[in-house]
Amino acid sequence: MSAQGKIIIDQSVCKACELCIWICPEGAIGISNVLNPKGYHPAEFIKEHCKGCTLCAVMCPEVAIEVYRGK
Ligand code: SF4
Ligand code: SF4
Repeated sequence: MSAQGKIIIDQSVCKACELCIWICPEGAIGISNVLNPKGYHPAEFIKEHCKGCTLCAVMCPEVAIEVYRGK
């Protein structure tokens, strides 16, 4: 069985560059409808398909993503 994971995005510091969305091989990240304090529509975790690969966290220039791995 492949590893499962989840991410937590600190939406308050996200600048909506969308790099995490492009890099995620599982399509697990989208753009929120809400505005954050910086005036951006931040990234949000939209699906339960995360494999915990960490690509999004490595890619994020704002270091806004934490990845958790589980079963
Ligand atoms: S850890 Fe990997 S699979 Fe999970 S949201 Fe980030 S890029 Fe996608
Ligand atoms: S890579 Fe980081 S700053 Fe860019 S959209 Fe994703 S969470 Fe936001």
